[in-house]
Amino acid sequence: MKTINDFNFKDKKALVRVDFNVPQDENLKVTDNTRIQAVKPTIEKILNDGGSVILMTHLGRPKGKVADEFSLKKILPEIEEVLGKTVKFCNDCVGEDAKKMAADLQPGEILLLENLRFHSEEENGDTVFAKKLADLGDVYVNDAFGTAHREHASTAVIAQYFPSTKYFGLLMAKELEAIDKVLMSGEKPITAILGGSKVSSKITIIENMLPAIDNLIIGGGMAFTFIRALGGEIGNSLVEVDKQTLALEILEKAKEQNVAVYLPVDSIIADDFNNDAEIKEVDIYEIPQGWMGLDAGVRSRKLFHDVIMNSRTILWNGPIGVFEMSHFSAGTVALGDSIAKATKLGAFSLVGGGDSVAFVKQFGYEDKVSYVSTGGGAMLESLEGKELPGVKAINN
Ligand code: AMP
Repeated sequence: MKTINDFNFKDKKALVRVDFNVPQDENLKVTDNTRIQAVKPTIEKILNDGGSVILMTHLGRPKGKVADEFSLKKILPEIEEVLGKTVKFCNDCVGEDAKKMAADLQPGEILLLENLRFHSEEENGDTVFAKKLADLGDVYVNDAFGTAHREHASTAVIAQYFPSTKYFGLLMAKELEAIDKVLMSGEKPITAILGGSKVSSKITIIENMLPAIDNLIIGGGMAFTFIRALGGEIGNSLVEVDKQTLALEILEKAKEQNVAVYLPVDSIIADDFNNDAEIKEVDIYEIPQGWMGLDAGVRSRKLFHDVIMNSRTILWNGPIGVFEMSHFSAGTVALGDSIAKATKLGAFSLVGGGDSVAFVKQFGYEDKVSYVSTGGGAMLESLEGKELPGVKAINN
């Protein structure tokens, strides 16, 4: 993997694609700056070498039109605060001003270009637009893991203009190494924990991971499709009726590949999808009509705990209960505790994709697991076994 550590940036202008698509409140103030923090090491390395940095990113979905609410000017103060440096700003990512500001940039300086998606050419992967961006810098660095699954002008197409001067940033390298550690070089036993609402969105991941893993824990809403397919009474729990055959096929494939599958054995059920609903704990195969399973029961938590404590590599994607409601968060909290404990004892744990990342942040597990991925869609596509366009463009 060619990373920025393989290059000395002295007197070079590095064109760095980052993912500063940060969440904002109604006043457009940044509410979570994780994505800015995440690329700080890359920016510092380039500046410390004696180079300068031109930052390119998108923010939101302006769909090819200039719109004040998506302007990077709004997040500039937060970027300066996190980086602890003054950042110059250009009100367009291409054109005369961008050319001039890039040309005038001195070693040690940072320039932020306006939202790439103000130009429809960005998402269309336009080569002329990519060339205009490319002309601004001497070296291309991709550190935008969050958009690495997109074949856009700044994430992939641009790389062709830097045949021998394109590198992965340090965040990209860390993300790719973490995935590799699970799928390719993980210490055994390897356990994947998949939760969340739907089986349908996780099928490709399961199929791709089976050859690599030893244990598969299936929890959350998606477990009920399996339980029902196995003949269980699941009451009004979430189910994808048309995916039952597929669920049985997955179990069969897992068996053929010697992967042990663990489904919940009990459930915290409620008479309504509501935090104040009446609650009971029952066997997962015996959920009465009118009730729905919203969290893993105590016996399931213990079962999952034992599997996790016997694992050396752990991948976690998706909550195993409706953790957003306090009365149904205990199962996911217990799971987080088990993973934290195993990690403390030397296992490698990767948390990736959407809601489980939100969970670890909200419940304070970020520092108790080995790695929390910053890229939702990109992480999921990697786990599905796809080569991400942003990665391919640098490797080719
Ligand atoms: P996903 O986006 O597919 O990873 O699903 C995440 C969502 O699954 C979270 O918002 C959870 O609240 C939800 N979830 C987890 N367990 C259940 C369950 N037993 N019933 C319904 N939704 C669930």
